[in-house]
Amino acid sequence: MARAYDQEAVQPAGDVLHEACGITGLYSPGDDVARLAYFGLYALQHRGQESAGLAVGDGERIQSHREMGLINGIFNEEILGGLSGHVAIGHTRYSTTGSSIIVNAQPFELDSDLGRFAFGHNGNLTNTDDLAARLPEDVRLAATSDSEILALTIALAPGESWPEKIKAAMRIAEGAYSVVMCTTDAVYAFRDPWGVRPLCIGTYGDHGYMIASESCALATVGAHYLRELDAGEVVCIDARGVRTEHTEVVKPASLCMFEYIYFARPDSVLSGRSIYMARYEMGRALAREHPVDADVVMAVPDSAIPGGIGFSAESGLPYVEGLIKNRYIGRTFISPDQKLRAQGVQLKFNPIVENLRGQRVVVVDDSIVRGTTTPRIVKLVRDAGAREVHLRITSPPIVHPCYLGVDMATYAELIAANRTVPEICERLGADSLGYLSIENLVASTGRDRTDFCLGCLNGRYPSQPGSSNGIAQADRQPALKA
Ligand code: SF4
Repeated sequence: MARAYDQEAVQPAGDVLHEACGITGLYSPGDDVARLAYFGLYALQHRGQESAGLAVGDGERIQSHREMGLINGIFNEEILGGLSGHVAIGHTRYSTTGSSIIVNAQPFELDSDLGRFAFGHNGNLTNTDDLAARLPEDVRLAATSDSEILALTIALAPGESWPEKIKAAMRIAEGAYSVVMCTTDAVYAFRDPWGVRPLCIGTYGDHGYMIASESCALATVGAHYLRELDAGEVVCIDARGVRTEHTEVVKPASLCMFEYIYFARPDSVLSGRSIYMARYEMGRALAREHPVDADVVMAVPDSAIPGGIGFSAESGLPYVEGLIKNRYIGRTFISPDQKLRAQGVQLKFNPIVENLRGQRVVVVDDSIVRGTTTPRIVKLVRDAGAREVHLRITSPPIVHPCYLGVDMATYAELIAANRTVPEICERLGADSLGYLSIENLVASTGRDRTDFCLGCLNGRYPSQPGSSNGIAQADRQPALKA
């Protein structure tokens, strides 16, 4: 029987991809782990801005604090000062399943036969119904997200140690889950057998260790990056040091390609490849694949900037700043209504008219999801005096939904799901439109095509709702025209 959790995807905020969380973990006796985890979360704020929290273990108990909002609005000296211990985990959330409410904020605490633990999850399960149905009838759910179902599945799994329980849960949990857990005196971290979401480990000081979704969090606190966790790897850090185990469950490698295109911070390194350099190469490849007779190149800030600079380098066209972004607009900002918009209220981007007036402009962006923001950008650039606007996109067309933690849940909301490139171009109001091919995208990462999930680009998913284990082929046709 299905349990009462909320499987509805939240409403999209606009034409920006959102991902489902950033996580970090610290083991460092003698250091202020709460503050270190806090700084780590600060570096991961881009992965989720709805809620955040920290949990700290001091050998005897776990204390935690979580609230809705941004990191700097949640924590202060008093709260951090009250979280003392030598193990910590932190979480910053963007909801793709489960409502954006405080009970779904993480890390949350649960009890088990191995004692109390705190839990933070990045990703989306694809068989939550199945896992929920396996839970005993008398288990009460406190939250409404797949994360709690996963935590309960682990807590109730057979095993006399946490790695045994985690590996038992890995045999039945499907989808994306990079997780940090802490008990009163140990930190655990693991990735699903597909390795959809990133997770890395580094050393801190002489005797400490740090886990984080991205290496930029390690660099922020002065930790030394060691490596990515393997898909299906379980790491335990405690007084005996670091121990690692692997699940016997083997799945095709499926790192989300959008970590390289959009999600990860450009100063992060993913499996030895600089995100900045990967995006720069995407821009260069795009210039070769879709050259255009133009005067200047600009990028939509911030994530498309390396791609724009790469396009400029390859094409020989000068790179200019065309739009300035207000970086302080969160997901819940009060939008101007239609009338105010018509009167020129423009909160997110303002053009640098001097760089655009009279020019034939190449606008490089990283992706087009629903096609709601791009026409506004094209209009802004035209209104600033551009003679022509040529869109160049460093991802291939997004033609399928994502089931693995990115908020594009249906064909109906994807502008490219059932339109040709010329049709999309006309809708966006541009003079031309060119997308990077999957081949050149993969080549820009310096990695092999088989390392990636490309589900939203080619319909082949590592796992999707209702699928059996293994690669699932998208079998649904576009349902509606947007
Ligand atoms: S379907 Fe697309 S967005 Fe979702 S995990 Fe795969 S590559 Fe990433």
